[in-house]
Order: sequence, then structure tokens, then C-alpha cells
Amino acid sequence: MELKILWMYHDLMDLYGDKGNIETLRYRASKRGINVVVDTCTLQEERNIEDYDIFFLGGGADKEQTLIYKDLLARKESILKAKESGTAFLLICGGYQLFGQYYLDQDGKKIDGLSIYDYYTESSDRDHRCIGNIIVEAKIGEKQVTVVGFENHGGQTKAVSNPFGKVIVGHGNTYKGGYEGYMDAKTIATYMHGPLLPKNPAIADEVILRGLNRRYVVEHLEALQDTLENAAHDAMLKRLNVK
Ligand code: GLN
Repeated sequence: MELKILWMYHDLMDLYGDKGNIETLRYRASKRGINVVVDTCTLQEERNIEDYDIFFLGGGADKEQTLIYKDLLARKESILKAKESGTAFLLICGGYQLFGQYYLDQDGKKIDGLSIYDYYTESSDRDHRCIGNIIVEAKIGEKQVTVVGFENHGGQTKAVSNPFGKVIVGHGNTYKGGYEGYMDAKTIATYMHGPLLPKNPAIADEVILRGLNRRYVVEHLEALQDTLENAAHDAMLKRLNVK
């Protein structure tokens, strides 16, 4: 089997080591004997997004979001085609925001989003910035998964129809908001850097499965020895006093 991953704006949208997510996808899929192809795509570069099994867009500060949003909007048709073809989307922070209606930045400037989802994001005042370690309970298939990460965003995301999970520690979509991210059958969108996937192997495997199922029928992946991954995950739970 082959897994084609598109890493969007790799040179601009890569806050707090979001690229670790790509390394994790590559490593975990390769371990299962899957042939992994990772292509990058930056401003003005031509790519058929619908040719990819996984679309990854990391986070970025207001400056980078301003730099990329027009280029991203110009790719809307290709993104919609990809969605239709069953591509799995993983969107982090600034990338998550840009799939909604808009992001109103710190300076009050409106950055249009793709409007693929109904949610929208508006910057908070400085006292309500959401910063720190975060723990979220997410339901992946029938399983309840505890997800650990780090958040740092001024944006408050509202009107989220279907959150990624419930916040146990931290803020999430809004300051002390209780819910985090957005999820549907093909998209996981979250404020969790950390980066997300190295410490949360269950989420990494979910993204790989979703991606593989665009072209193949795969019900589950063979288990890997996740001693280090689980130790990193559990160390965060312990540090934040979560059982
Ligand atoms: N600029 C956005 C915000 O502050 C996104 C930041 C990020 O990607 N960490 O809300």
C-alpha cells in the first residue's frame, strides 16, 4: 500500500514543531510496510490536492496566516475535490482557523477563511490568550482517548458544530471554554501543538487509517510497540495531575 501526504506551507506554517506530526505519520506508516510519499507545497506551487490521501496544515502566527490565506483560498476547488475523494485532513491551530469562515486578527484585520466549516475565530484581548498545556478527551471510533498537547492562541473559535473533544485541562476553542477543536469523519482540526501526534499514537493511527481508506479498505493497523510514546504521553498526564 501507498500513503501520499501533502504538507501544506511547510516553510511558513510550522509553529512549535508541528512538523513532528509529519515525521510521526511517516514513521508509523513505514513501520507497517506502507510506502509513504510526503510532498510539500508552498505559495504559488502547483499541486493537485485531490491526489493526496492526507492533507496536513500546521499552525502559524497572524503574520504567516496573512501571508498564505489568499493562496489557500485560490485552492478551494482542489480542496473540495480532495474532500469528496476521501482525503483525510489534519489541521493545527492557524490552519484550523483558516478552514472556518474567517479569523479576525490581533490588529482587528479580517483574514478570510475557506468557509468549508461554519465556525469563525476572533482574537481575544491579551488577558484572555489561551496558553499552556492542554488535555482533551476525544472519542475516536468507539474508543475514548486522552489527548495531550500544548496550546498558544489568541483566536477564540466559536460556532463549532462538532468539537474534537472535551477539555480536561487548559482552554480549547475559547478561553476556559470546555471544548476543543473540530472533528468529522475526515477532518481533525485542533489547537493542540506539542506536536500532537508523537505523544498521541492513537490519533496518529486514526489519521493514517483515514488516509489509507481513501484508496483501500483497511479496518485496523497492526499494533506497534509504543513504549516511548506512551511514556511521553503519560508523563504529561502525571505532570498535570490527571489520572
Ligand atoms: N495566530 C493565531 C492565534 O493567535 C494562530 C496561532 C497559532 O497557530 N498558534 O490565534
